[in-house]
Amino acid sequence: MLLPVYLDYNATTPVDPRVLEAMLPWFTEHFGNAASRTHLYGWTAEEAVATARKQVAKLLHANLKEVVFTSGATEANNLAIKGVFEKWSYKGKHIITLATEHKAVLDTCHHIEQLGGEVTYLMPDPHGLITPKQVADALRPETILVSVMYANNEIGVIQPIREIAAVAHAGGALFHTDATQAVGKLPIDMVEEGIDLLSLSAHKLYGPKGVGALVVRQGVEITAQMDGGGHERGRRSGTLNVPGIVGLGNACELAQREMGTETQRLALLRDRLEKGILMNIPQTFVNGNTPQRLAHLTNICFEHVDGENLLLSLKDIAVSTGSACTSASVLPSYVLKILGLSDDQAYASLRFSLGRFSTEEEIDFALQHVVEVVERMRVGSAV
Ligand code: PMP
Repeated sequence: MLLPVYLDYNATTPVDPRVLEAMLPWFTEHFGNAASRTHLYGWTAEEAVATARKQVAKLLHANLKEVVFTSGATEANNLAIKGVFEKWSYKGKHIITLATEHKAVLDTCHHIEQLGGEVTYLMPDPHGLITPKQVADALRPETILVSVMYANNEIGVIQPIREIAAVAHAGGALFHTDATQAVGKLPIDMVEEGIDLLSLSAHKLYGPKGVGALVVRQGVEITAQMDGGGHERGRRSGTLNVPGIVGLGNACELAQREMGTETQRLALLRDRLEKGILMNIPQTFVNGNTPQRLAHLTNICFEHVDGENLLLSLKDIAVSTGSACTSASVLPSYVLKILGLSDDQAYASLRFSLGRFSTEEEIDFALQHVVEVVERMRVGSAV
């Protein structure tokens, strides 16, 4: 059986074969524990981790001491938000975030509320963007953290991070961004942009699953959420996943080298798909339709089409409705609902996310398939 064309790179990416090759020796030949300080096996592993740390730091214009390896972005978000809250709640217990954040941030904020914290969830405009003024208006003397995602996983809109960070700092708060969908896709400079804490995940940028990082600017204190041997300068205990970390480092290096050309190529392909759908299928519109948007993604609503049937009928392509992380539930995407879509419109919206291995042929095939399926469904429902 032919596999469906993969257009769900925002859910996860395949490991780049070059990344896999770099990882392999660290499972077998060089299996040492990076915390073993007494022999060559440990030193070798520690060196590999140090190289990966440099590669991650370089991509973000950070310092290698600022990189804390984690099991992914969910853990990084937990560490950032809980870690800041626990450390700084004596100063204030108020956090500002965005209503369209990923669940890894929203659920962590709900936990903070149970601990006696107060959280303001900012509502974006109908395209998914917030303004620095909204953040400024929400700031209070007791605000300790502003957490705003870099780019949204469902609709791809990119928030004005630099301006929001400046507002947060002016109000005396720290600034965290969940940059899971932006790292490796957009040039990020943590220093210039004023980002204190940044979460990322390897499996969104052609690295392996189960590894990521929280990058914490020097001087920013957080309380560890995992106690143990004091690894990662006391910020995250646990034996390091050396092959995974090597994979993440290599993925970052490749992204840095190839980001420019890759983004241009994918923007052309995405536009071809998006324009093709909008031109050939009436009653369609783009969710998060703003120029401030990731180049490899389009989220399109097919009005007056049954969402569930649509997804089931599109057997030859792999896309998602809402985010894959919440696809276990059959609720309409909360992100799309916040943009003002009805339940039916949200159900009938598809996210197409392209990536490194997407080809022109695949895009043309996907376009034709979508046009045929939607036409068939609309004719069917009109009868
Ligand atoms: N934040 C965002 C914006 C994401 O898209 C994801 C993954 N869907 C996560 C956090 C969670 O990342 P991980 O899978 O590494 O836990």
